[in-house]
Parts: sequence; C-alpha cells; structure tokens
Amino acid sequence: TIAVPVIVPNTTQSITDLTTGTKRNRDESDILGVLEASFDLSKLYTDVTNLGGQNNGAVYLVDRIGTVIARKAGDKVPIGADFSNLQPIAMHKQALSTPGEQTGQLDTNFTQYEDQYKVPVMGSLAIVDVTGWSVLIQQPVNAALAGLNQIIQFALLIFIVGLFVTFPIAYVLSRRLTSPLAELVKGTEIIGQGNFDYQTPIKSHDEIADLAAAFYRMAQELKHSIQSLQKERNILEEERNKLSVIIAGIQDAVIAVDLTRHVTLINRAAEDLLGVKGVDVYGKPIDELLNLQNGTDQIDVTEYCPINPEERDGVIFAKDNLKLTKSNASELYTNVVTGKIKGGAATNLGCIITLHNVSKEMQLEEMKLDFVSMAAHELRTPLTAISGYLSVFMMENKDKFDDEQRSFLNRIGISTQRLISLVENLLNVTKIERHGMNLARKPIDWVPHVKELLYDFQNLASEQKVELHFDEPTEPIPQITIDPLKIDEVLSNLVNNAINYSKANGHVTVIVEHKGNEVITSVKDDGPGIPETALPHLFTKFFRVSGKLEQGSKGTGLGLYISKAIIEMHNGRIWVESQYGQGSTFSFALPIDTA
Ligand code: ADP
Repeated sequence: TIAVPVIVPNTTQSITDLTTGTKRNRDESDILGVLEASFDLSKLYTDVTNLGGQNNGAVYLVDRIGTVIARKAGDKVPIGADFSNLQPIAMHKQALSTPGEQTGQLDTNFTQYEDQYKVPVMGSLAIVDVTGWSVLIQQPVNAALAGLNQIIQFALLIFIVGLFVTFPIAYVLSRRLTSPLAELVKGTEIIGQGNFDYQTPIKSHDEIADLAAAFYRMAQELKHSIQSLQKERNILEEERNKLSVIIAGIQDAVIAVDLTRHVTLINRAAEDLLGVKGVDVYGKPIDELLNLQNGTDQIDVTEYCPINPEERDGVIFAKDNLKLTKSNASELYTNVVTGKIKGGAATNLGCIITLHNVSKEMQLEEMKLDFVSMAAHELRTPLTAISGYLSVFMMENKDKFDDEQRSFLNRIGISTQRLISLVENLLNVTKIERHGMNLARKPIDWVPHVKELLYDFQNLASEQKVELHFDEPTEPIPQITIDPLKIDEVLSNLVNNAINYSKANGHVTVIVEHKGNEVITSVKDDGPGIPETALPHLFTKFFRVSGKLEQGSKGTGLGLYISKAIIEMHNGRIWVESQYGQGSTFSFALPIDTA
C-alpha cells in the first residue's frame, strides 16, 4: 500500500489556517489530503508463473537485489536463482535499489547479453514502481532473429535466382552490344594502319551502325586530306630539289646559317671559294669560316649576319670589295650580300650569305689604274713640253702670224690645255682610287681666297658672256683648315662648269656662308639645270648628262667625281640642287676646326 499527498493547485481562493485560525490565500505547500492506494503484487507473480512454455522466450520476476521470485512455467531456472550479475539487472542496480524513482521499462531497446548459461540472448527489463521488483523478458538471439534470418535467406534466394535468370539475358544483350563495338575497334585499327577504305561490317540499324558509318566517312575525309598533303609534300620536295640544284649551280658562293649562326648549307662555289669541304663545315659557327675586312677594319659577324627574328625580308647587309682571309691565310676580295626571310625563324633559318669573288675584277681594276697612271704620266711630260714651246713660240712670233694662223695656234693651245687637264684628272682619279692622295692642310681665311680665285675666272666669264659675281658675306667667316690647292680644284671645277654650261648673258653667283660648324660655299647659275634622273649619278666617274649639253662641251665627266673625293677627304659634304631648265646650285660644306 502507498500513500500520496494531494497538493493544492495554485489559486487565489482564501482559506482559514487551522493552526492559527486566521484567513490567508492558499499556496502550493497546502496539502488537501492524502491519497492511499493498494497494489496486489501476487497477481503479477501469478501471471509470470502461469505463462505457458510453448515459445522459447523467458519471463522472470526479480526482486530488488536480483533474486528470481517467479518464472514461466517449465523454465529450468530455479526460484531464488541470483540474477544480480545478469547484464540488464547489473546495469540498473541503482534504479532497482531506489524504488519509486523510475517506473516502467528501463531498456527501451532490447539489449544483447549472455544469460546465466552463457547463451547469447536479447532481453529487456521493466521495473515495477515502489516495490523495486522488475520483470525481465529475454529470448535466445537465434530465436529472436529467426524472422530476420528468414527474410535474409529469402532475399539471398531471390538474388541468386535473379542472378541465374538475368545473367543469360545480360550476356545475350551485352554480346549484341559488344560484338559491334569490337568490330568498330578492329575497324579503327585497320583504318589506323592506313586502309581508309575499310568498312566495318555492321548490319544493324542502331546507333552503333550510325557510329560505324560516321567512322567510315571520317576515314574517307582523312584519306582525302592525307592525299592532298602527300601531293603538297611532293611539290615541296620537288621545289626543294630544284632549289638545291639551283643553289649548287650558282657561280657565287652561298652559305645559309641557322639562328645561332651555325652553317646549315654551303654550295659548291662556297666550298671552292673558301677551300673547305661541306661535311667539315656543317654545324660550324660562320665566323670561324668567314673573316671579312673592309680595308683595315674587321667586320663583326653581327654586322654581316645579324640575327633578329623581327627583321624584315630581303637584303640586310651588302658591301663590295671586302677582303676575305681564308684559313690558309690567303686573301681574296668579295662582294658580300646577306639576305633574310621573314618567316625564317620558324624553320631555324638565320640568314643567307652570298659571296661574289671580285678578286679578278680587283686585279683588272688595279691593272687598269696602273695603265692609266702610267699613260697619264707618260703623256704629261710631252704635253707640258708642247704647251710650253707653243706659248714661247707664240710670244716670240706674235707679230708674224696672220689672223687665221693665230686662231689655229690658239686652238692648238686650248686643246693642249684640255689634254693636260684630262691627264691631270686621270692622275687624280688613280690617286683617289688607290687612296694615295695626300692632303697638305693649313688654316685658311676662306673669303679672300675665294675672291682671288674668282678673279682668275673673270676672263673666261667675259669670254663666255657670263656675269660672274661674288656675293661677299657680311658676317665674318671663321678659318678653315684645308689643303688649299685641292679645295681650289673643287671650286674651280664648279665655277668652270657653271660658266661653261651657262647660256650667253647668264649669271653665276658664288656665295659663302657660315652655318652651324660648317662653312658652306655655293656656286649658283641660271643655266640649263640638270634633269632629275641624272642627279643621283652626277658625282660618279665619267658621268656626263647626255643630250645637247654633252655634245656642245668638251668635259671628261671626272671633275665632280674628283671634287666629291676631295671634299670627303676633308670630312665635308658636297651636293647639288637643280631644276631642269632653271639653273643649278652646287654646294660644298667644310667643317670648321673646333680643336
Ligand atoms: P665635265 O664637266 O668634265 O663633263 P663634271 O664631273 O664636272 O664633268 O660634270 C659632270 C656633268 O654634270 C657634266 O658633263 C654636265 O653634264 C653636268 N654639269 C655639271 N655642272 C653643271 C652645271 N652647272 N649646269 C648644268 N650641268 C652641269
């Protein structure tokens, strides 16, 4: 039997306190009364005992300390058996020893443990409130899981049966799928070996047949692409062969180098020129093969073979008459031209160097200069004698000639002078070309010098009916250090041309100016002018403007060539400004001595 106090719910209702006799509000500590209840545990005991023995589960009524009070009829476990060490009871020892704290099932889930006979069982414990008694229900694991095991076995059976049923179907289906795929694989291998016309024998009308057809089309396209590539390759091969034949047959030496300036190609002419064998020089640096000099200056490989991938197409270096020293120390002269192809970098082509052997021409030139120089020297002496004797003869007999005779003798004199100046010019040319002209420089007051020189030309000018005028500078002109004889020759040539090529009543003006660090002397005429096409050739050897002018005058075409050489020896510049029909202005600039 248990007694439970009934507590007053919280209310505002007032009551009379029995102990003090005063009225007050009710509170939670007020007890209304005591509720008493009785339990008949014998009923539980009877129920447990009377449980039938038909199933293999066990039910035990256990007291607080774990002693069996009642068990199912037919159970082997004796009444009074000690279950205190059985897992569910041992686990809840605390709850069992303090009844009233917990009621009902303690193990919400069935736990697995070993019973007193070491048999694996599953059990659950429920505590009976107040008494501390508990009801233990347990069943061997085998029996408990029998249903589950049956389900698993059934599932396994279904799986195996399924396997047996589906395998043949899957096999048949996969065969249908894989054999065309295997055919396709075989087909791609055959195509890969070059048989582009192979058609995979797939008769079905599904996606694999489409795939096979696509493969066939692809193979056909590949075939056409390869055929056209082959054709292009053949053409290229032919072109290359043609080029090789051309290069081999070229009389000039041709050497190609890669981007690191190593020889990649050398033709027969180059082998002969350099006295080497192709096999020995392939892969060698070009500067080991070519030792080039311009006069006495060594030419660096970066100059005659520049490697710059962004360089434009075409000729990148060209110089004539370079001295080439061979490995055996012998020397020859060549013109060198280096070419480049813009896309050359892609094929590792640095540049192509062409050498034209000019040793023979140089030799001939040398012989020519020897001959001219010798002939001029030989002519100079008798011509000077003729001129000398003629002037003496004319002086001594000037009253004995009639007009016609005097005119003849004058013409002889003029022609002799012309011959002498031609001979002088030829000698000057040979000196220039042999770098044998020496300068005797000295500081000169240029303006009075020009005035004096022009004074000597007044006669000629008046003979030609040309007005020669010196436009004297208002500002002082600094001194220049020059070879006066040579520069006189230049100015004389320019003034002479200006007078000679001017029309009657023409004007020739000489101007001297100081500009920057140069003294510029110009000879301006209002003569016929020079055609534009002739301008670039004016200062070259033996050049004369063709046409009326050339026929009328008796020049040699050497004056301007010599003038240019002399001015350049003085580190100066010479140029012409002319418009055909409107006169010409020839100018030369000489540097002022800054030292
Ligand atoms: P040359 O006068 O002996 O023929 P140059 O070298 O002095 O030789 O001159 C070359 C050519 O330039 C001349 O033949 C002539 O045709 C042209 N030339 C030179 N000076 C003049 C000028 N002032 N006006 C027109 N033509 C000129």
